[in-house]
Amino acid sequence: MSGSARPLRIGIMGGTFDPIHHGHLVAASEVQDVFKLDEVIFVPTWAQPFKKDRRVSPAEHRYLMTVIATASNPRFTVSRVDIDRGGTTYTIDTLHDIMAEYPGAELYFITGADALAQILTWKDNEEILSLAHMVGVTRPGHVLTDTGLPADKISLVEVPAMAISSTDCRERVSHGGPVWYLVPDGVVQYIRKYGLYRVAERSASTTS
Ligand code: ATP
Ligand code: MG
Repeated sequence: MSGSARPLRIGIMGGTFDPIHHGHLVAASEVQDVFKLDEVIFVPTWAQPFKKDRRVSPAEHRYLMTVIATASNPRFTVSRVDIDRGGTTYTIDTLHDIMAEYPGAELYFITGADALAQILTWKDNEEILSLAHMVGVTRPGHVLTDTGLPADKISLVEVPAMAISSTDCRERVSHGGPVWYLVPDGVVQYIRKYGLYRVAERSASTTS
C-alpha cells in the first residue's frame, strides 16, 4: 500500500536457547519495536565457541522449544542455518547465511550486553560490524563499560526481564523447582515431556 522501497529490517537473535525463556522473547520484542523490524529470526546455535566445556541439550530439542515459544508471534521466526551447518557456530557464518536468504535487507544482530562487550574477540569482528548493526540488550540502569566498538555500529536497548537465565531455569528443573512464567507454557510442558534437565537424565541410571 505504501509503495515504499525501504529495505527489509531483519533482527537476528542467536542463542543456545537451552531452554528459550521470556528474557529472550521480551528482548526480541522490545528490539523489534524500537527498530521497527519486519522480522526477528531466532537462530539456535549448534556449538558455541564460548560454551564448549558445557553439556548442551540436543539441537533438535532446543530448536523445537524455540519454535514452540515463538509460534504465536507473526514477526518471530526460527532458522536452522546454524544447526544445519553444524560445527562451531560463528556469527559471521550466521550473517552470511541470513543475508543469502534476504538479499538487500538491513540486519540487526541482537545480543546480551555481556556478549557485546566481547565482540572484539569474535571471529571476523570487523566484517560482522560491516554487515550488521549490533543491538545490545541491557538490564535497566546497567551501564555498559566501553566496548571499544564504533558508536555508530551499536545501540543499547533496556529490557525489563533480564534477570531470567537459561542456567537458572535448568537448575530449577533439576531440583524439581518451577519454571512456570519464566518460560512459555508450551516450553514447560516440552521440558516435562522429554525429561530435560533432570538429574536422572544426566546419570541415565535412575527411573523417573
Ligand atoms: P545460559 O544461562 O545457558 O548462558 P542464557 O539465558 O544466557 O543461557 P543464551 O541462549 O545464552 O541464554 O542467550 C542467547 C542471547 O540472549 C544472548 O545474546 C544473551 O546475552 C541474551 N539473553 C540471555 N538472557 C537474556 C535476558 N534475560 N534478557 C535479554 N537477553 C538475554
Ligand atoms: Mg548466556
